[in-house]
Amino acid sequence: MLIVTFQRAKCIGCNYCEESAPELFRMSVKDGKAVLLHATEKRGFYTLKTHRTDLIRQALNAEQVCPAKIIKVKK
Ligand code: SF4
Repeated sequence: MLIVTFQRAKCIGCNYCEESAPELFRMSVKDGKAVLLHATEKRGFYTLKTHRTDLIRQALNAEQVCPAKIIKVKK
């Protein structure tokens, strides 16, 4: 199980997560912030739980490159 959490309010819209993890993140054309695909939201925190372990590398890359440090990965 791969769990990715994302604190969207603090996103600065740098686009690094989409470049590092295109199957997990997309930039929103509405507000310029990242969107964690297929995530559920609770009090501003977005969470994706998936059995797609092939996405672990992308998720860890996004966690590492995010300058705002708002992407957290558990596996
Ligand atoms: S890398 Fe972090 S700050 Fe940059 S767009 Fe993605 S979530 Fe936002």
